[in-house]
Amino acid sequence: MIINNHLINNQVGKIYFTCSFDDGHIADLRLAELLAKFNVKATFYIPRSCECCTASLSESEIRTLSRLIEVGGHTMTHPILTRVSYKQARAEIFDCKQWLEDVTGKAIHSFCPPTGRFSAAHVSLQREAGFTAMRTVEMLTHSMSGVKNVLDFVILPTTCQVYNHSNISYLKNNVKRLKFVSYISAWKLFDSNWEAMSRNFLNYLYDISHTQNEDHYFHLWGHSWELSQFSLWRSLERFLKSLHDIGGFVFLDNSMLADLVRRKKQPVTSVAELI
Ligand SMILES: [Zn+2]
Repeated sequence: MIINNHLINNQVGKIYFTCSFDDGHIADLRLAELLAKFNVKATFYIPRSCECCTASLSESEIRTLSRLIEVGGHTMTHPILTRVSYKQARAEIFDCKQWLEDVTGKAIHSFCPPTGRFSAAHVSLQREAGFTAMRTVEMLTHSMSGVKNVLDFVILPTTCQVYNHSNISYLKNNVKRLKFVSYISAWKLFDSNWEAMSRNFLNYLYDISHTQNEDHYFHLWGHSWELSQFSLWRSLERFLKSLHDIGGFVFLDNSMLADLVRRKKQPVTSVAELI
C-alpha cells in the first residue's frame, strides 16, 4: 500500500470503513474473531436457514456473535424477495427481525435482501417492520453523498467484495443498476484480485481525501463460506492487518454508518426515489 503517515496527517476528509458478511455460515465465528483481532466493526446478515450454507450457525452461536458484531436481518429462509408473493416477502421480513431480536436480546436495525434483489414494496415493508437501513450488493460506491436516505431509511451500497470478480462482473453489477458513472470512474482501479482492487480503491480514497473536504467510505462485503471455498482467509487477514497498521480509518458497523448518513443528509420523501 502506498499510503503513508504524512498523507494521513494532512487528511481533510474522513474515510469510514465498514464491512458486512451474509448467510450465517458457521465460519462466521472464525471471521468475527479475525475482525475483532484488528478492531474492525462489521454487520453479519443472518437468515434462519440458507441453501448456500452446508453448516449454519445455531441460535446460541448467533447470540455469541451478537456480542462481537452487529447482527442484521437476511429473511427467514433466504428466498429472492422479487420471486415470492407479497405475503411471503412480508412474513420473511417481519419474522426475521422478531426471531433475531428474540435470539440476541437486542434491537435489530439493518436488513439485507438475499442476492440484493428487492422492489420499492420491499423497502416499505422493511420500514414498516422497524428496520432503519438496508445493504445492497451494488459495488464500487464510496461517496457519502451517494448514499440514499429516504424518510430516514438509509440504503447502503458497497464498494468491493472479498471475491475475485472479473471486470465484466463489475460492469454487469453497475449497468444493471444504471450506475455507469460508478463503473467509468472506477475503471482505472480494477483488478481481478479482490485484495489488489481494494487497495487501489483505498489509495484512491486517500488521494481524494487530501484534495476534497468530503467524507468517503469503503464498504467491504462477502460470505464467510466463500473465504473457505476460494482460499481467501489469508488475503483477508493480510488486508485487515494493513488497515490496522496504517491507521486513520474510522471503523463503523452498517448501522453506525447509516446513523451518520441520517444525521448528515436530508431525507428525500418518496420510497420510489430509492430504487
Ligand atoms: Zn445471502
